[in-house]
Amino acid sequence: MNTIFWFKQDLRLSDNEGILEASKIGKILPIYIFSDAPSDEFKIGKASKLYLHHSLESLDQSIDDKLNFYKGDSKKILVNLIKKYDIKNVFCSRCYEPWEASHDAEIEKALAELNVNFRIFNGSYLWEPESIKNEIGSYYKVFSAYKRKAYLSEVRKPFRKPTNLHFIKDSDNTMRLHDLNLISHNSWEQKIESYWGFGEDAALKKLNHFIKNGLLGYKIERDYPAKENTSKLSPNLHFGEISPYQIWDAVGNIDSMHFPKEDLDHFLSEVIWREFSCYLMTHFTGFPYDNFQAKFDKFPWRFDKNLLNAWKKGQTGYPIVDAGMRELWETGYMHNRVRMVVASFLIKNLMIHWHYGRDWFWDCLVDADLANNSASWQWVAGCGADAAPYFRIFNPITQGEKFDSNGEYTRKFVPELQLLPDKYLFKPWTAPLDVLKASGIILGKSYPYPIVDLEKSRNEALEAYKTL
Ligand SMILES: Cc1cc2nc3c(=O)[nH]c(=O)nc-3n(C[C@H](O)[C@H](O)[C@H](O)COP(=O)(O)OP(=O)(O)OC[C@H]3O[C@@H](n4cnc5c(N)ncnc54)[C@H](O)[C@@H]3O)c2cc1C
Repeated sequence: MNTIFWFKQDLRLSDNEGILEASKIGKILPIYIFSDAPSDEFKIGKASKLYLHHSLESLDQSIDDKLNFYKGDSKKILVNLIKKYDIKNVFCSRCYEPWEASHDAEIEKALAELNVNFRIFNGSYLWEPESIKNEIGSYYKVFSAYKRKAYLSEVRKPFRKPTNLHFIKDSDNTMRLHDLNLISHNSWEQKIESYWGFGEDAALKKLNHFIKNGLLGYKIERDYPAKENTSKLSPNLHFGEISPYQIWDAVGNIDSMHFPKEDLDHFLSEVIWREFSCYLMTHFTGFPYDNFQAKFDKFPWRFDKNLLNAWKKGQTGYPIVDAGMRELWETGYMHNRVRMVVASFLIKNLMIHWHYGRDWFWDCLVDADLANNSASWQWVAGCGADAAPYFRIFNPITQGEKFDSNGEYTRKFVPELQLLPDKYLFKPWTAPLDVLKASGIILGKSYPYPIVDLEKSRNEALEAYKTL
């Protein structure tokens, strides 16, 4: 009996229940269908496309080039394949984007008419969003309460990698990976590529490297962008090159007698924030688009194209903000602490709607994730569930001085400030002229003056907030 295994955001063979179950039945037709989001806003971004291309390439290599690629209407493609290969089962893993549920229901109906068994497995989140409810049977809006409840349910062990896989190649119809046009080989893409290793093996290696070298001290050191104390597993998790079960198993089993428990707990807690984002997206319709707290609909946002462009290009005159935005452009990633700082700057100092920030991140991040990105932007904006209060405005000068005190991160991404002494690094406009000259900096030419006054813009934002 032949089964289609439809890879989606689970680009791995280990801990993939669907493929394990398919392997027990008989031959497998492994497929990937590129069909973009129905809404223009969330068409897959350029950096994600690039990551996806390489991740698919790696998966294909791991199954001896047997992965079959298609593009277009998944229902039509599946129905054709079912007829051609006498398929009795179609298995896949669940995706959680808001449009997926109705899409799955449509496919289930079409497949039922053909007497084909359609099964959707869970492999991307530790807890199905529907399984965690509060005492009155409703949904949590506060992370700590959600986490407490989540911890009450046991996390399963990862599934083994199947050994007896027999794949079918659909040689007549399948496209080549390159025909999906996910990449165009321009220099920006080539630069981003150079920062990442792709695929399941690279993800597992990265996890092990992090456990050996980054986890110790995680609770504190994770906030320092020059340090290697975060895992950088976010794109791997997004594309399912690794599952949260594998991470939970590897980290949760570390002997806390020999390892600080606060580091283990804090790391697992961040993994649970990822769960919470998906939980919010599942339960609150419109979450990726709308303010979770509706009072923010009346916020008097401003729009200034020049300011937005300066932010995007890392030319704001605030070095930690510029370093973050340039890290994003250079690598397709940005450190979490700096993501918070640049987001706060856009929303609260420039008073530009969080949607513009979300969209730029969406296009540039290799880990762009609908749930995490929207939840995090809403968190910084103060309009999300359990969000940072609006009046908490990150000061980019003190954030830089505190979390990058020797300037290692900032100088790496803003090299024109290389020679500026630490004392002035996060506020170059306060440096005496002779210091600027000795550092080779001409403000307004080699590095911009601040595009906005921090104190004034902060007060304006707080005044605007009071009107809500
Ligand atoms: C404005 C803004 C936008 C963001 N957009 C995204 C996004 O599109 N995709 C994305 O995966 N993360 C996003 N984040 C969350 C966070 O910044 C990244 O998950 C993290 O920086 C990834 O680095 P890491 O893998 O080294 O994290 P680690 O510190 O090693 O954490 C391990 C894993 O936990 C999860 N995680 C960590 N922090 C968070 C968090 N605050 N919220 C939710 N999950 C978290 C991630 O999956 C991460 O890989 C955003 C944060 C902000 C402030």
